[in-house]
Amino acid sequence: ATKKRKKPNWLRVKLPVGKEYAKVRGIVDDHKLHTICESGNCPNMGECWGAGTATFMILGNVCTRACSFCAVATGRPPEYDEDEPRRVAEAVKLMSVKHAVLTSVNRDELKDRGAEVWYQTVKKIKEISPETTIETLIPDVKGTWDALYRMISAGQEVVSHNVETVERLYRRVRPQAKYARSIEQLKLTKEYGQRTKTGIMLGLGETDDEVYKAMDDLAAVNLDVLTLGQYLQPTQRHIEVAEFIHPDKFAHFKEEGERRGIKYVESGPLVRSSYHAERHVSV
Ligand code: SF4
Ligand code: SF4
Repeated sequence: ATKKRKKPNWLRVKLPVGKEYAKVRGIVDDHKLHTICESGNCPNMGECWGAGTATFMILGNVCTRACSFCAVATGRPPEYDEDEPRRVAEAVKLMSVKHAVLTSVNRDELKDRGAEVWYQTVKKIKEISPETTIETLIPDVKGTWDALYRMISAGQEVVSHNVETVERLYRRVRPQAKYARSIEQLKLTKEYGQRTKTGIMLGLGETDDEVYKAMDDLAAVNLDVLTLGQYLQPTQRHIEVAEFIHPDKFAHFKEEGERRGIKYVESGPLVRSSYHAERHVSV
């Protein structure tokens, strides 16, 4: 058995309680929606849901992939839910979300990778909540660029796609993805005219130089926003934390990333790609 690593105190967070939290809980359940906050056991649920915001996960809650850090169930997704865009838009409206963040599972079995549901969801939100800004954290479309362009053309303000880790760790962390393909996706998204964003988890055993290399690759495709946060193991069956990175180190990485040409770097132990995402609309 491996030694259990104790979480340092900078990772302690508030428990999810309170009136706003209960309201979000009710709306999510009533609309039969999924959130990555819950599926990913996010440590910030107390804060985000308490402030009336959540990150919806569309296209169901079963993923065709099996990333070793992720708590979403893997399998053959049973459904193609054409009503989901309407329910998400209604929930966003009821919650009066000023900035909505959406993500999805991977639907590799669909020819369009789920692009149509993505497109309709953004359109529906804009239709009934025109003031709400939207970030779409989209999956790897496996080089199906037509699907990419459909996904990113619905009027959202930010398009993110997480590279998640450094190139060397892909086989262990994101076995069905390819580092270069994800960088290419960010490049094409930027060239299309979108504000781009990506996230990297630290503490999986990457070296500093590997992080700098990823920053250089991201700066080369004119990335707008990079988020860096501490990886936390969602269950014992997931890949182990190799290291808890000190907050000072996160601050140092922010400086390094911006010095290397990334427009804005959000970096800290509890940073998730959807954490304080409203800040990233205007960078
Ligand atoms: Fe949800 Fe993102 Fe907040 Fe975590 S940081 S609770 S995933 S909105
Ligand atoms: Fe989780 Fe996304 Fe990987 Fe699916 S593709 S297992 S949802 S991180």
